[in-house]
Amino acid sequence: MTEPRNVVLLGATGSIGGSALRILRAHPDKLRLVGASAHANADALLQIAEEFELKQVCLTDGAAHEQALKNKPDGLEVLCGSDGLDELATMDAAGVVLVAVVGTAGLSPTLAALRSGKDVALANKEALVAGGKFVVEAAQAGGARILPTDSEHNAVFQCLGGGSAKGVEKIILTASGGPFLDWPAERMEQITPEEALRHPNWSMGSKITVDSATMENKGLEIIEARWLFDLPPERIEVVVHPQSVVHSLVQFVDGSMIAQLSPPSMTFAIQHALLFPERAPGVDETVSFVEPFSLDFRPPDPERFPCLRLARDSLVAGGVSPAVFNAANEVAVEAFLENRIGFCAISRTIGQTLETMENLEPVDLNDILAADAEARQVATAHLNPQSMP
Ligand code: NAD
Ligand code: MG
Repeated sequence: MTEPRNVVLLGATGSIGGSALRILRAHPDKLRLVGASAHANADALLQIAEEFELKQVCLTDGAAHEQALKNKPDGLEVLCGSDGLDELATMDAAGVVLVAVVGTAGLSPTLAALRSGKDVALANKEALVAGGKFVVEAAQAGGARILPTDSEHNAVFQCLGGGSAKGVEKIILTASGGPFLDWPAERMEQITPEEALRHPNWSMGSKITVDSATMENKGLEIIEARWLFDLPPERIEVVVHPQSVVHSLVQFVDGSMIAQLSPPSMTFAIQHALLFPERAPGVDETVSFVEPFSLDFRPPDPERFPCLRLARDSLVAGGVSPAVFNAANEVAVEAFLENRIGFCAISRTIGQTLETMENLEPVDLNDILAADAEARQVATAHLNPQSMP
């Protein structure tokens, strides 16, 4: 029998983190948790450390780290901050690092892990959106693999049999369309955070749930796909599929299409990435054909969901534009969730930030980080409280 693969889980207390822990519990013979991180929830992280008998964890929030040092058992090392996250991501024992932290915070540990030769199961999409070129270079330099873990990209990866995009005409990412798929434009100004957080199919963290409601999420995923599969923007299509059962499709040059289907739970994608190229029984029910059901597809509406167009524009513009697109969104979503701006102000803020900032070709990661920081300042200045419902 082969040894289990050692897993480091960054963002263990989140939605993806929780699904990953279910998979780890189900397959102790194949996967072993050796490190985990959380931002501020010290108690939950210490509990995970106890359950999985970890020797190293990391809390990125300083106050939570202080608290954990008081409560931690002997023999457990608690690392701190983003340096601690990088250290955990490169620990000797790590075989694969599942990056499931939210936001640009995922970029640094992703680069660190790949450079040190660790495979990365990448759920965090913001890392590729902000610094795709450098993430791909880091994987090449370290001889490591990026295992697509976002459900759509994992679906494409599965349709390609884990291989390259040879013979592919285009990929088609499916989008649920979110809770406001059929809402008229006039009603969309009044959308509240409570309404935006009620996703019809998926249970996820709050930032990505709002991103799904604006369809920013699909915009981020177009950019993510560009780097994962090395395809130009015009060969990455989006189709609205409200049931979220088909997670994406690949169309080959001869016109044939292959799709991947599973119920809307992230465990299918996470488990596939962690075990690749092996397979094992899943932890959730599969699609059942005992009851009748239908699958619908329709084109997206970029008028009511301008984030889709902004994503494409920033991808075509290249340079630091996608990083700006992502950072402005992070600022705007936070303001929306705190009731400081209205729903439609999210895409307006992104558009204004992209227009205000000068684009440049990043020479190194510092250029990305500088653009990210400046975009946050510019976006904050553009937040428009007048557009409150
Ligand atoms: P979440 O908010 O539920 O969890 C985020 C995790 O990251 C938590 O463990 C939190 O403690 C940690 N974290 C928060 N801020 C941090 C920071 N500044 N530095 C380090 N760690 C921090 O988020 P989620 O829904 O699990 O999503 C995680 C990532 O996976 C996101 O990038 C999201 O876009 C992507 N993703 C999520 C889903 C999903 O179904 N939830 C699907 C596809 C992709
Ligand atoms: Mg997705």
